[in-house]
Amino acid sequence: MNVKTEVKQIGLYINGKYVPSSSHRTFEVKNPATQGVIALVSEATEEDVNQACLAAREAFENGPWRTMSVAERCEKLRRMAEIILERKEEIAGLDAIDVGKPYHSTVQHEVPRAAHNIHFFADFVQMQGGETYPMEENFVNYTRYEPVGVAALITPWNVPFMLTTWKLGPCLAAGNTAVIKPAEMTPLSVSLLGEIAKEAGIPDGVVNVVHGLGSVVGTALTEHPAVDLVSFTGSTATGKRIMKNGADTLKKVSFELGGKAANIIFEDADLDKAIPGSIHAAFMNSGQVCLAGSRILVQRSIFAEFLERFTKAAMELKVGDPQNIDTKMGPLVSEQHYQKVTSYLEIAKEEKAKLICGGKRPELPEYLQKGYYLEPTVYVQENPKSRICQEEIFGPVVTLIPFDTEEEAIQIANDTEYGLNGVVWTENLQRAHRMSHSVRAGTIWVNCWFVRDLRAPFGGFKKSGVGREGGHHSLEFFTEAKNICIALK
Ligand code: NAD
Repeated sequence: MNVKTEVKQIGLYINGKYVPSSSHRTFEVKNPATQGVIALVSEATEEDVNQACLAAREAFENGPWRTMSVAERCEKLRRMAEIILERKEEIAGLDAIDVGKPYHSTVQHEVPRAAHNIHFFADFVQMQGGETYPMEENFVNYTRYEPVGVAALITPWNVPFMLTTWKLGPCLAAGNTAVIKPAEMTPLSVSLLGEIAKEAGIPDGVVNVVHGLGSVVGTALTEHPAVDLVSFTGSTATGKRIMKNGADTLKKVSFELGGKAANIIFEDADLDKAIPGSIHAAFMNSGQVCLAGSRILVQRSIFAEFLERFTKAAMELKVGDPQNIDTKMGPLVSEQHYQKVTSYLEIAKEEKAKLICGGKRPELPEYLQKGYYLEPTVYVQENPKSRICQEEIFGPVVTLIPFDTEEEAIQIANDTEYGLNGVVWTENLQRAHRMSHSVRAGTIWVNCWFVRDLRAPFGGFKKSGVGREGGHHSLEFFTEAKNICIALK
């Protein structure tokens, strides 16, 4: 189905209303399946960022948000979650034309999860208490968790709406105000968050959204003196830049960065589960997932069987129009990203990796000819130090690496600068625990992938992140702990 959409005009959202850029400049956003222009988005200037930060600061200092009762604040957040669900088709539709995500899985999974992110933190905050430390009979200490101030929430293009709500939920539930900066390639769905917040009764200035290049708008935001904390999800390179830019104003930072997960298949794994699980981990969202299981380590005794069955399943994945119900994989997000991902096909050739399937554009109907499509691509590479095994490709390109022993699997799995997650497939309970303890990453999935409990910590070891999100970990970031010590006599 070829959906024609009119070109949308998207403004900045500052202090409770849409406004154009003060320079009146806009930038184009294209549908990656067709290259058709779908939106003209206001490009914020430094002055616009300043206005958004000042609005958020004013709402924090003098507005009702910070001081209203937790019950009232959380009621508004639950309403916000309801509105997201009421508008889920619209939101999923925007992510489908903007990111190229398959619409049906987005409307069924990602948007409901976005609503759940907000709802979860509303409920979670209401259940929090504090600590009390009586000191002999003369003094008593008790703690309060107070909001920090203005948060910059900076998010990537691969999961725009859901990932932004994962930050916005705890940020607002704790009583902070926010300036959101979505990725310039995919700003459409996130641009709605300001108006959704307003519709839910959240005061003006609490949720602001600014658009534009990371190097301009992101820099202005992370250097702004009115911003107290930066919650960022994106690449490791940008994380380093933000840390430097935020240093002069001593910003509190939380970073969710890149990954290159090992997905380890032992000879005792249940391949009927491991193969579909590994396919999902490799090719969901066209492999544009920080948690993607892109290094597939397979024990040599089952290597041939795994390779044959995995390749067959990869080739059966339906690549096509994100709007079609049977599409499992859409295009890559942009021309620039397509160039990056396909440059690894050349690197793989130079590194003498063996191409098993994919590596080219799929055959598609005429109207998708300009889309940035790549077939699911599978390589075998004996050398785990090669670039395709070390660098985050962030596309539908995976490498199978054989190993003989558990020790060797651990060594290969940990031989990376990243440490976001790992996946282990085995029916041996002791091995499952041993591997989970030995792989140096923030999340280990055993016989599953991408299962999330929002109370659990989420984040990366090594260059995959700083800090953790989820449950009380998110709240620790978005609050200041205050100790109050009272003399009783
Ligand atoms: P990116 O770092 O290029 O951009 C992310 C965001 O940062 C965008 O909004 C961008 O405009 C902004 N930005 C860029 N330069 C900036 C600067 N100097 N100051 C402030 N903001 C700036 O990342 P991307 O290409 O959009 O996303 C892909 C990356 O995100 C991958 O590395 C992926 O692994 C990572 N990611 C991580 C997680 C996680 O939870 N760990 C989740 C999703 C994506």
